[in-house]
Amino acid sequence: MVDFVFRCAYCGKTFTPSQVTYTCPEDGHNLDVLLDYETLRRNLHPAHIWNAGEPSLWRYLLLLPVTDPGGQGTPLRRVGWTPLEEAPRLREVLDQPFLWLKDESPNPTASFKDRASAVVLAQAREMGARVVVTASTGNAGAALAGLAAALGQRAVILAPRSAPRPKVAQLLLYGAQVVLVDGTYDDAYDLSIQAAQAWGWYCRNTGYNPFTTEGKKTAAFEIWEQLLRRVRTSRPWTVFVPVGDGNIISGLYKGFWDLHQLGWLERLPRLFGVQAEGSAAVARAFHAGREDVEPVRAHTLADSIAVDLPRDGFRALRAVRETGGTYITVSDDDILDAMRLLGRFGWFVEPAAAAALAGLRQARARNLIAPEDPVVLLLTGSGLKDPEAALRASPPAPVIEPRLEALERVLAR
Ligand SMILES: *Cc1c(COP(=O)(O)O)cnc(C)c1O
Ligand SMILES: [Zn+2]
Repeated sequence: MVDFVFRCAYCGKTFTPSQVTYTCPEDGHNLDVLLDYETLRRNLHPAHIWNAGEPSLWRYLLLLPVTDPGGQGTPLRRVGWTPLEEAPRLREVLDQPFLWLKDESPNPTASFKDRASAVVLAQAREMGARVVVTASTGNAGAALAGLAAALGQRAVILAPRSAPRPKVAQLLLYGAQVVLVDGTYDDAYDLSIQAAQAWGWYCRNTGYNPFTTEGKKTAAFEIWEQLLRRVRTSRPWTVFVPVGDGNIISGLYKGFWDLHQLGWLERLPRLFGVQAEGSAAVARAFHAGREDVEPVRAHTLADSIAVDLPRDGFRALRAVRETGGTYITVSDDDILDAMRLLGRFGWFVEPAAAAALAGLRQARARNLIAPEDPVVLLLTGSGLKDPEAALRASPPAPVIEPRLEALERVLAR
């Protein structure tokens, strides 16, 4: 395992792994994992990774602060290494010839969150944790429950009572102990931390556990390996990322930053964060030039990015500022439109994922992005996660008698 220390994203103090578990003891901010870049630069060539040929995020084990968790022959081994697709017909319709889609739905539990849960579980195994707990609006919990089941690790998931039923069903089926909290996600969040402290459980919470970002950074490694190192462009790359707590965008930034430290990537892609208008705490802080993110009362159909108080807001602002990106807010109607458009070309995504495309369309309309700019959309989760939203995005199917004339009539409409 590569040597590392933690460094507070806010005050810059460093800590050894034996000194802290979660956040900065001084100010409570999130910790970045600093690898031993000097040793890595000396001993590691990217070809070590390319040639190993491992078709999952475990291909980057040499750049992760954990040891291999095992789990051979289970879905834990196929997290990550998701496809990066050219979408030729979508390129045409959008007039965006250098567009790629990074589709996260092939992950074992069908969302980007598997990357974080896989690496947190590797750490839990190393610590000998008896129980891993997380608060979740759905996807993070499903990722922890599913991959914990694969490893035989006990998991407890605290979800708000309002979590979408299909997501709760997935949690339950994985055999995790699921408890619905009569309150908000934020209430479940605080309760999970209390429980972890009281009973010595290991807590996976987003924007709290420093290993989630390390898992999520592997998507940046993949975008680099699958695309940036192969396709030379004169214009800068832009990656559109849906943002709720801000942990995914912080993770992508961390991945590109790691590659830069290693000397493998010259210029970091610009990160464009996309939030729902009704849940735009980070975007607001960004455009007001503030460093602190003030909570909102989140209201959007994109439940995976509906967050009152973003738990990784500080780093989410940094990711965008340091790469010369920006924040964009989109309406729920824009999101539904984007879901329909993606569907027409073969990508069935949940609303939060469609927000990335809605963000690109708005950026084009406002000339923040030119047609010739090379762009990657991060499609973070499958449409099967939220069938209710898919029903809302589509007109109802007509019902007919089982006769050919009736069929003909309805098709002619
Ligand atoms: C969690 C999630 C997001 C947002 O990630 P944050 O780290 O909360 O910003 C986006 N899309 C999907 C599908 C998610 O599950
Ligand atoms: Zn600090």
